[in-house]
Amino acid sequence: MRRRLLSLAALLGGIALTPLQAAAQGTLNLYCSVQIEWCQAIATNFQRDTGIRVNMTQRGSGETLAAIRAEGQNPRADVWFGGTGDPHLAAGEENLTQAYESPNNANLQPWALTQWNQSGRRSVGVYAGAVGFGFNTELLARKNIAPPACWADLLDARFRGEIQVANPNSSGTAYVIIATLVQIMGEDQAFDFMRRMHPNVNSYARSGTGPIKAVARGETGVSLSFVHDAVTERNAGFPVSYATPCEGTGFEIGSMSIIRGARNLTQARRFYDWALTEPAQRLGFEAGGQLQTPSNRNAPLPPNAPDLSQIRLIEYDFAKYGRAAERRRLIERWDREVGALP
Ligand code: PLP
Repeated sequence: MRRRLLSLAALLGGIALTPLQAAAQGTLNLYCSVQIEWCQAIATNFQRDTGIRVNMTQRGSGETLAAIRAEGQNPRADVWFGGTGDPHLAAGEENLTQAYESPNNANLQPWALTQWNQSGRRSVGVYAGAVGFGFNTELLARKNIAPPACWADLLDARFRGEIQVANPNSSGTAYVIIATLVQIMGEDQAFDFMRRMHPNVNSYARSGTGPIKAVARGETGVSLSFVHDAVTERNAGFPVSYATPCEGTGFEIGSMSIIRGARNLTQARRFYDWALTEPAQRLGFEAGGQLQTPSNRNAPLPPNAPDLSQIRLIEYDFAKYGRAAERRRLIERWDREVGALP
């Protein structure tokens, strides 16, 4: 009977649980830091699969960490799904999340379990993606600007006012970019680089996915983004391409954590287990159009997704750059030395 109800729900594209059934299964308060389409897809599908009612709030990784901190004594969320790995590590160190071992860990890529181990079992990897440059091929061609191939190119006068990147206070993507530059160049040189790039930056966006959408709309020529997001825009029909920096680049382990003091712990664990399954991980692409590398070994790499094994990745020091104090220090330095520039 329940199966019949669920398939009817699928047909209607809605959720066909009666209020009584939903109440019996309980509620899950989900903080979600991936793109809204994917967040909505996981909320709808989990609710459909389990009957657990989902209240979902979507915000960037830095903003979500700030919310979880502010609510530390009275947590409103049960699970934090997605977003860059560093703020998940910071949350774990600050005892804002709790340890959990899913039976589905057995099916995960090694890097997903590295995140789990480094976080004291408080965060697990759900996807990975590399940092790079997104660009609007038509806009750059019209302006006769060659696309960037290396970090060093971003200082070139041809990109004056043409680059968009996010603000690390709200965006996990922006923080990964800062940590990447620091690891490639050394800290003082990286801040010097960002100061010199500043005249070429037209805006520091709130969300990490804002700049690539601005590229797609033709509002800016170049974005510093996760390169899988460039493919999402290209698949949507925009003249967008991407490159990964010749000097090497950083990457994220997009993560998931259960909040300490979660009021709906049973539902939180059920969601966590579900989100690590192959069908749930397929949703990123199939329902959300997202092209990250999934952490479940059986979930296929979506067609035309960037292949991380073909990208020159640095040995990103997640333990160091995920430390709360290090993250705070680098963002404060960015505020003083880059964000405050006229
Ligand atoms: N959306 C997608 C598709 C991502 O891959 C990520 C990174 O984990 C984010 C959003 C995070 O966004 P933000 O930089 O705003 O924290």
